[in-house]
Amino acid sequence: MKEADILIRNCIVLPMVSGEVVKEGIIATKNDEIIYVGKKSKAPRVKAEKIIDGHGKVAIPGLINCHTHLAMTLFRGIAEDQPLEKWLKETIWPLEAKLKPKDIYDGALLGCLEMIKSGTTTFADMYFHEDHVAKAVEKAGLRAVLAQGILEPDIKKLGEKMLQNSVNFARKYKGYADGRIIVQLGPHSLYTCSLDMLAKVRQKASELNVGIHIHLAESEETVNETKQKHGLAEVELLERIGFLGSDVLAAHCIHLTEKEMRLLAKHNVKVSYNPVANMKIAQGTAKIKDLLDLGVTVGIGTDGPASNNNLDMFQSMKAAALLQKQYYKDTTVLPAQTVLKMATIDGAKALGLEKTVGSLEVGKKADVILLDFKKPHLTPVHDFYANIVYSAGGSDVDTVIVDGKILMENKDVKTLDEEMVMLKAQKTAANIPKRKASIFKFIKNFT
Ligand SMILES: [Zn+2]
Repeated sequence: MKEADILIRNCIVLPMVSGEVVKEGIIATKNDEIIYVGKKSKAPRVKAEKIIDGHGKVAIPGLINCHTHLAMTLFRGIAEDQPLEKWLKETIWPLEAKLKPKDIYDGALLGCLEMIKSGTTTFADMYFHEDHVAKAVEKAGLRAVLAQGILEPDIKKLGEKMLQNSVNFARKYKGYADGRIIVQLGPHSLYTCSLDMLAKVRQKASELNVGIHIHLAESEETVNETKQKHGLAEVELLERIGFLGSDVLAAHCIHLTEKEMRLLAKHNVKVSYNPVANMKIAQGTAKIKDLLDLGVTVGIGTDGPASNNNLDMFQSMKAAALLQKQYYKDTTVLPAQTVLKMATIDGAKALGLEKTVGSLEVGKKADVILLDFKKPHLTPVHDFYANIVYSAGGSDVDTVIVDGKILMENKDVKTLDEEMVMLKAQKTAANIPKRKASIFKFIKNFT
């Protein structure tokens, strides 16, 4: 007889270990870990505090969003259908200059609520005032990899201050919220940070033994500018300064030469593929098939909710598959099972968390979601992977468990007051544009 805290019984289980589909499966958790997963017929007798009936439901590992800027929920829908540069310079940056630290908490909490409701249990975030994101994550019960962003505006001292803040955040919040928060350093990109700064970030990350989250080769224009300025492509430059490593998470990776892709593979750099945001801002298509063929680990990200415009990983999974098929004019590229791996176990690898999450295995953290398959659009089931990637949506998520705690059961969110979170975020979002911006506030805000 095994003693468990939670027992999910009579469900289909996709453990995401091989390609196995376990029918009449059960999952048992104790404290924060999975203690049994597999067929009911082979299971030991389990006595559990809490029993969840999984009939008609499919259990998969919680989804992993490898790249977002969570608090940008506040800017959802505020500037649509604009070119990247105009969008950033005329809307997003002026609004960000008006943000108060408390706003980040309101926006992040809304993002956490949206993620719980759509089955994301771990996410990687890069933004400002990450201490407020950490507090929202703690309250919501999610798991997150957080990086305080570093930009180097024209005033050199400001960049130094932002680096220091990013380091301070990493020191203070490493292992926060019962270990559910993992930290990284967050240099924004090659076009907003000098090579000097990036070399310093690399050194600090190695000293602190934390990863680095950076935007890489997102826009053709900035990629060309960098090449003109330095005579080398972005990845070549990063290699030259010793920046590349297995702890680097590079978001986008669209405009890469073959040589650069080989360098990413050589240094085991991890990639976040963000198909919806890339299409929406019309930045081009990352050559994911080529990267996978070279052995690069690729996870999937939504990017910020201002350029997506949601945090629904099911939409991003579908887009991830369709965009690659279209780009390569090849229907066999990125089959459904590969895509679900990218959103679970490969996403975990991209964040350096493959020993902790990303698959349903004994000894791993109990991060499990249940999908309600009793829906017209999920009937019939010939292929569970195909239904999840091509037919399902975030609203099919029924129950969410993170670290052995139930965050949502039968669509009822346990850790957050949904009405209050939405009301507060709506109010905050309406107030921000009305505030006056000043260079003083801008400096204060980002340092
Ligand atoms: Zn981004």
